[in-house]
Amino acid sequence: MKFLREAYQSGHALEIIFSSLRWFFLVVSITVFILQYVEDPVQIKLTLFVPLVVFGLIYMGVSDYYLHRSPEGSRMYTFMAKCGPFFDFIAFSTLVPLTGGIESPLFPLAYLIILHIAVYWRFLGGIIAAILFISVYSIIFLKQVSDISSFDSIVNYLCQVLFLFLIGGLGGIIVSRERKHHSEKNMLVEVANRDYLTNLLNHRSFQECLREDIENGLEFHIALTDIDKFKCINDKYGHVMGDLVLRQIGAMITSIIPEKTGKVFRYGGEEFAIILYTKEQFEVNRILVQVKQAVANHCFSCEGEPFSVTMSFGCCKQNGETPNQLVKKADKLLYEAKDNGRNQIVCVNLGACHDLIFVKD
Ligand code: GH3
Ligand code: MG
Ligand code: MG
Repeated sequence: MKFLREAYQSGHALEIIFSSLRWFFLVVSITVFILQYVEDPVQIKLTLFVPLVVFGLIYMGVSDYYLHRSPEGSRMYTFMAKCGPFFDFIAFSTLVPLTGGIESPLFPLAYLIILHIAVYWRFLGGIIAAILFISVYSIIFLKQVSDISSFDSIVNYLCQVLFLFLIGGLGGIIVSRERKHHSEKNMLVEVANRDYLTNLLNHRSFQECLREDIENGLEFHIALTDIDKFKCINDKYGHVMGDLVLRQIGAMITSIIPEKTGKVFRYGGEEFAIILYTKEQFEVNRILVQVKQAVANHCFSCEGEPFSVTMSFGCCKQNGETPNQLVKKADKLLYEAKDNGRNQIVCVNLGACHDLIFVKD
């Protein structure tokens, strides 16, 4: 059940399902072929079947290697995932005539392959796939059925064509609807979690992230940071300029903190929150000093008039506190930085020191 739920949310899980089904149906195909061959040993069928199985094994091995080893979205991963349905189509077109033609127990595989194609190429892909399978079916039908004008064979033929067409069309429509729904949902989640002005993660994301990181027992530091005398910037240069400063500072902090190292949030107003996933105090100091200096050294300009801003920081290590306790602790340190004259970082002393950092004992 968990795996099926994942398949709904992730393309990779769906690919793994399709690739596992390929192995399963390879075994089924070999079994069906052997049973039929024992009853009616036709040498030419065996001569064609063996290379098909060898080709299948090589293709499936290579494809599985890339599906498991290449990062999702990489060129080889995408190539292999998208090649899958084409391989399936070729294998199907050879396998079905070898295992009973239109009466082959493997014929319903066509429905699965059409659905897989619709996952990538949606409605148009579904319809084109249906037409391809109808063509294959028609060729086998014409070769196999001796009396194609009989009522039964016409009804059988038309029903099969109709089903293939319906699966392609409806499959494509369902996938398109689901994808649209999924991207709309992602867009709403993005809007709910991001700050409109700076495009940073917002206060809600910060609280959720903090709660999850504590629940998961991660080791991290948090820093609360506030622009010094920001009200003066608004008063002197106007709120539009103030907004621009907020946006630029947000971008600056984000560019300094790599995604793997930490996360940057707009806490509110002219305050930002930073979560750094390291327990090393010197690493935290290094990053915060870099942020502090980058902001202080940046030259903003309003109608040709240059100006600069500074920031104050309060930083502490997560040490078994609740989210609120942790924020309170960092907030207290931030206000110490303000009281001490601003433009500085105050950390709880954990051994390391830096000349730009006021480290509290
Ligand atoms: P301090 O060094 O003590 O932090 O002084 P400050 O002037 O930065 O602090 P104060 O709290 O007095 O002022 C914060 C200002 O930030 C007031 C408010 O207008 C401004 N501000 C908050 N949010 C925004 C925003 O989204 N855009 C703009 N332009 N200004 C904002
Ligand atoms: Mg301020
Ligand atoms: Mg403030």
